[in-house]
Amino acid sequence: MASEYVFTPQPLVSIPVVGQAARFPLHRIYCVGRNYEEHAKEMGFTGREPPFFFMKPADAVVVVDAGATGTMAYPTLTKNLHHEIELVAAIGTGGKNIKAADAYKHIFGYAVGLDMTRRDLQNDMKKQGRPWDIGKSFEQSAPIGPIVPVAKAGDVEKAEISLKVAGVDRQRSNVSKLIWNIGETIEHLSAAWELQPGDLIFTGTPEGVAAVVAGDTLVGEITGLPALTVKVV
Ligand code: MN
Repeated sequence: MASEYVFTPQPLVSIPVVGQAARFPLHRIYCVGRNYEEHAKEMGFTGREPPFFFMKPADAVVVVDAGATGTMAYPTLTKNLHHEIELVAAIGTGGKNIKAADAYKHIFGYAVGLDMTRRDLQNDMKKQGRPWDIGKSFEQSAPIGPIVPVAKAGDVEKAEISLKVAGVDRQRSNVSKLIWNIGETIEHLSAAWELQPGDLIFTGTPEGVAAVVAGDTLVGEITGLPALTVKVV
């Protein structure tokens, strides 16, 4: 009997939702570059530039349940794997050309995420004017905790955001310091792509990005959301 596919399809990636059994089915992962002023400065840039975006594949996600410690393998080719703690907005209702004032109606919830980056490879690509994919879009480069529905998440745009590595503070800031807030980000993003339910938006990282090594445990926290704990192995 003929099978529908020539091989078994990859499984749908989904993320747990706090307070309910049904999971959030993943579509795309969008990421915003340089969206906190102090981080833009540490990367060598100043001034407010329009937001810009890159993507990660669905299998970049490492799902970490609340209270659990996830693991990510130290990736190939790099000697400079960086952490970037980020607030993640999860889209529940799609749309295009969404205005900032209407954008919040499209958000299902929020989570804590890590935009793990092969910084040496990203920097090589920047110098050559080439795409960032090899630096940003590899397997297990997007650990994420459970999604908290909007109504239970509190005011995430005023939340403290922090990351500890091996118990020591590396990044500490406040989501209110986003250059482009979540509504403005969605306005720009949805002008370029039609957002779909299941999309995630990694909204950018504050200053303090630095290297991790195998054996390090990362703990990311955003007020009102479950902490994200990941061990690099
Ligand atoms: Mn980032």
